[in-house]
Amino acid sequence: MNAHTPVFCTIVPPHVLDKLASAEDPALSDIARRTLIADSAQRTARRLTTVLGAPAVAPPAEAVEGQPHRTIHDCRHGTALPGRKVRGEGDKPVKDATVNRAYAGLGATFELYLKAYGRNSIDGSGMPLDASVHFDADYNNAFWNGEQMVFGDGDGRIFLDFTIPVDVIGHELTHGVTQHTANLTYYGQPGALNESMSDVFGSLIKQYTLDQDAHQADWLIGQGLLAPEVTGTALRSMKAPGTAYDDDVLGKDPQPATMDHYITTGRDNGGVHLNSGIPNHAFYLLAEALGGKAWERAGQIWYDVLTGGELGKQALFADFARLTVAAAHTRFGDGEEHQAVLKAWSQVGVQSG
Ligand SMILES: [Zn+2]
Repeated sequence: MNAHTPVFCTIVPPHVLDKLASAEDPALSDIARRTLIADSAQRTARRLTTVLGAPAVAPPAEAVEGQPHRTIHDCRHGTALPGRKVRGEGDKPVKDATVNRAYAGLGATFELYLKAYGRNSIDGSGMPLDASVHFDADYNNAFWNGEQMVFGDGDGRIFLDFTIPVDVIGHELTHGVTQHTANLTYYGQPGALNESMSDVFGSLIKQYTLDQDAHQADWLIGQGLLAPEVTGTALRSMKAPGTAYDDDVLGKDPQPATMDHYITTGRDNGGVHLNSGIPNHAFYLLAEALGGKAWERAGQIWYDVLTGGELGKQALFADFARLTVAAAHTRFGDGEEHQAVLKAWSQVGVQSG
């Protein structure tokens, strides 16, 4: 395993697809099963790439410092990646709104990292941003495969087009940032921290795009992704983990908000999409306590820890919490930020001292 082992990460966790696969309606269960099979094929492809070494990516000819270098491809409902190139950097919008949303979402992600944190793309060195849309047919997921973003169209019954929520795009690309920095192991607590980083920065990208204060933000992940007949608002809620949906077919959002309800499981890589609710909620509590733009102080503290070199690959919640307390002190001194970080972790039951 090298220092930058890519994580294959899907936005819709396996517990949701498992639930759908057991739906009574065969149309729903067939689609869910096909998505699970396609996900597993992609996982295998990732492992092969990891073992064999990723194909060399040619540096972009027209790369400009401080500018994104985006390329959007169309899979035309096939599964071969990346598919046909349909929009490159600086090209005019095309007729396909999905292509344009993916292009805009990659740009929004690039911009937050550059403007707020001085980071030049995912790897910090101007890495080109590639995405493929219309992956497979009725594909109920989106993922980062270590090299690029891939979006399904959704089946239209449970999930809509996965390019709709900009925080989903930000979530997936942040897996790339984590891969190139702390490289948190995708299992158990470090895996839940990895997931939480993606939710935190995914939400911040949405807030930055909408120029929202912490109080104005919805703190939802995937708002607009659930089809109208689903009873729910999003995939996850950072403000109130466990309340994003409660639906006949999808079941109830299982995320805990505090350590009292920590879930021990072998499924979902040891509950990475479940227990991420705890650090997610700590971040929300901090941002809400500080007020203002959440990417400025709360986000800066989290970013400092993610990229600072002290966060180990196997970090537990308490390790991460302790580092955020130290980072708040280093950057902002003995003021309200430091106190607010301590309080946020104590409210979710994580030891930070
Ligand atoms: Zn993820």
